[in-house]
Amino acid sequence: MNLRDENVLREMNLYPLWVRKEMPAQNESIDSQVLFVSEVVPEASPILLRQAQDRPSLPPEGEGVGWDELKAQVKDCVACKLREGCTQTVFGVGDENADWLFVGEGPGADEDARGEPFVGQAGKLLDNMLASIKLKRGNNVYIANVVKCRPPNNRAPEAEEVATCLPYLKQQIAHIKPKLIVALGKTAATSLLGKEATLGSMRGILHDFGGTPLIVTYHPAYLLRSPAEKAKAWEDLCFAIKQIG
Ligand code: URA
Repeated sequence: MNLRDENVLREMNLYPLWVRKEMPAQNESIDSQVLFVSEVVPEASPILLRQAQDRPSLPPEGEGVGWDELKAQVKDCVACKLREGCTQTVFGVGDENADWLFVGEGPGADEDARGEPFVGQAGKLLDNMLASIKLKRGNNVYIANVVKCRPPNNRAPEAEEVATCLPYLKQQIAHIKPKLIVALGKTAATSLLGKEATLGSMRGILHDFGGTPLIVTYHPAYLLRSPAEKAKAWEDLCFAIKQIG
């Protein structure tokens, strides 16, 4: 394990708390064993395919606009009051053919300044969460938010703002066609699933977003405030890996 891996695991509260379950195969590098972790993660998380009653829908195939046009539409969007108070829209970043789509709530101050999602402290933790499962921003991973404009004072976006902006995210999903959506935090989860629920009740379940599997985990900003919950986020990431196979 190199220093970088050790730092990633430390940040996720997985080191030195987490121990390898299996001995490495002879030809396996130490590096590849980082996932053989935990006596803490339960063997089998409950796996249910939950169909939302009012099933969220994606734009039908062939409908909607091309990726460049979509970017231009978001850039020029003034459909809600959030645009007045932000510096720029934050479309999303990463591999446009990614298997993994991570969805947050909305840009904060750093993201508003840079025009890229998750570049502040929460973004650093998200990068480490990705690294802990051998993923990297931009490499088979796309990162987006429910709303593309920073809500004032980092408040949660209002229902009307979410409803106005969600069609953009739906079109992003229709273009990317990810194998799995990971909803980061309650706003992302409830916005995508179209129902009110506690975060805890949505975890550990394989949801369905218009035909795309979706799982729910904690928002990195919450994990920064409540580091003890990182173990649960790790459980969720293990659950996510099982879904992608
Ligand atoms: N929080 C989010 O939900 N999204 C970001 O892009 C940054 C912080």
